[in-house]
Amino acid sequence: MNQFQATQTIDSARLLEGLNPPQAEAVTQTEGATLVLAGAGSGKTRVLVHRIAWLMETQGVSPYGILAVTFTNKAAGEMRGRIASLLDVDVRGLWVGTFHGIAHRLLRQHWQEANLPQDFQIIDSDDQKRIIKRLLKDQQIDATSLTPASLQGYINARKDEGLRPANIDPGSDPVAARLRELYDAYEAICRRGGLVDFAELLLRSNELWLQQPQVLMHYRERFRHLLVDEFQDTNTLQYAWLRNLAGDRATLFVVGDDDQAIYGWRGARVENILRFDKDFSPVTTVRLEQNYRSTNTILSAANALISHNAERLGKNLWSDQGDGDPIALYAAYNEVEEARYVVEAIERWMAAGNRRDQAAILYRSNAQSRAFEEALMQRRIPYRVYGGTRFFERAEIKDALAYLRLTANPADDASFERVVNLPTRGIGARTVENLRAHARARQLSLHEAALDQLTSGELSGRAANAVRSFLELLDTMRRQTADHLLPDRIERTIQLSGLIDHYAKEPHEKGQARIENLQELITAGSYFTPEEEVEGSLGELNAFLAHAALEAGEEQGDAWDDCVHLMTLHAAKGLEFDLVFLCGLEEGLFPHQRSVEEPGRLQEERRLAYVGMTRARQFLYLCYAESRRLHGDVIYGTPSRFVAEVPAEHIQEVRQIGR
Ligand code: ATP
Ligand code: MG
Repeated sequence: MNQFQATQTIDSARLLEGLNPPQAEAVTQTEGATLVLAGAGSGKTRVLVHRIAWLMETQGVSPYGILAVTFTNKAAGEMRGRIASLLDVDVRGLWVGTFHGIAHRLLRQHWQEANLPQDFQIIDSDDQKRIIKRLLKDQQIDATSLTPASLQGYINARKDEGLRPANIDPGSDPVAARLRELYDAYEAICRRGGLVDFAELLLRSNELWLQQPQVLMHYRERFRHLLVDEFQDTNTLQYAWLRNLAGDRATLFVVGDDDQAIYGWRGARVENILRFDKDFSPVTTVRLEQNYRSTNTILSAANALISHNAERLGKNLWSDQGDGDPIALYAAYNEVEEARYVVEAIERWMAAGNRRDQAAILYRSNAQSRAFEEALMQRRIPYRVYGGTRFFERAEIKDALAYLRLTANPADDASFERVVNLPTRGIGARTVENLRAHARARQLSLHEAALDQLTSGELSGRAANAVRSFLELLDTMRRQTADHLLPDRIERTIQLSGLIDHYAKEPHEKGQARIENLQELITAGSYFTPEEEVEGSLGELNAFLAHAALEAGEEQGDAWDDCVHLMTLHAAKGLEFDLVFLCGLEEGLFPHQRSVEEPGRLQEERRLAYVGMTRARQFLYLCYAESRRLHGDVIYGTPSRFVAEVPAEHIQEVRQIGR
């Protein structure tokens, strides 16, 4: 054995240390495609990370030749960190990201081939809805016949299926024909403004594969290893995208759990797991059965719950972590009392010397966070809400971003509309309406239309002065910030915009919080480091704006500080905590009312409950409230059927004192 081989063996042993035999088998597959199909907490993500390290360390694969897909940007960041610490090498060349993030990166590099303007802007779902609302209004379609949300859903679903308006055959159905027309009109708006929504990122990059064979060949040559986490939640388009990229050369390695498929409502296709076997044959399927996360009690309870689902690939999971404590079941009087109970339990947990960041409160819908937030605030316990109104989706942040975007691209109509009269500067709805009509008639951006109307004298008097000073403001912003570093640019833009004074007028606390958020945006700018490729084609400001848009679509916050975590069950996927509270277990809330009547959706809700329970390492609490105020109404609920599906032997009911 020569020296090189000797080191290889040692390193390879180190990478396989701490893996059980089937995990090691998966990590070291060298033939064909691999599917790791296994339940929660069995080490799928760990296997994926070790596989990447193993490829680089022992197979001589360059980081440049590996592409890994994660479900959130946060998971991507963690994965990078893990690989770097396993290998102690530079992992910058490695592409790890979400499907959206990776598609974005590709489009930035190949904007020309993808038929996009170089400075195209990403719009998040909120921006998209505004545009659609406006479109419906322009077409005089009243919200009772078609809501912006349903048109948005229609458009995104078509894109996720890979369909452009031209690919849709409405037959003789007038409603389908109308929807297709609106989709077409929406696309025209995006094209004019250089706007790209989330679904478009992926569709466009898949079309890039199909229409630009030389680009596809380049990436096929480059990425010989494709790895995907949470594979059960890929949709049709993501699957097609992967398949195109893989061609017949790349080695695919995917990990997933059919029992954790929770994005069917957003177009994810768990059937992709079954297709995978056929499309990428020969496939080695590896099953992992040992769970390293939870106590036996928690695991058995979760297994029993999920066994109520009919359509499963089936699996056994066991744990050697001992039985641990029984699962606590608490019936609260109402949502306020539920929150009080949870927060007191967290206080006891902290008093026993545990870390706050090992506690998570999980719920079905965002609106439930409020009661917990209030209780936590009262007790001065630091917490962070993931999901809900995410930082980059907050109104004040979007206002500031709109100004920044206009300095980068005056033709960004969505941003123009957002801030043309914010803070109020005397540009009324009529004036804006005229601008819009003018822009539409002449195929101009709103900014160009405004200039046009000013020069032609079509706009006069007070309105003209107001519009002129707005355009001048944008111009000043652009000139005064152009050569500055990103945080200065953000700061200067915010100062000039007048947003701080505007928000200072809001009721005290609310306004103050908004101003603090604006300051936080400057901080975000100072910490921002763009991916090389993205910055290269864009410049720092645009790279930051793209980052903000991508982050806004994600159900996660940024820093993982020492605070209690609050999040929806959807956002909890892939994570783990010592102490977990699963709250609001009431019929109609969870399972959600809309899902109760449809067996398929009910099963998806049950998988969501399974995801929730399996986040817990040591302690799990199930809570429900006998009455609850939600969206202004008081509802008297019955305990969720999911509670009854957990065998009584694993549960201990908490007695309420004084009732
Ligand atoms: P999920 O389905 O929830 O995404 P997963 O299958 O991806 O779960 P991981 O998050 O990779 O599971 O692993 C769960 C926990 O078990 C982690 O803390 C991980 O470090 C630990 N773990 C996994 N495999 C082993 C092992 N062989 N020895 C010790 N700990 C392990
Ligand atoms: Mg995982």
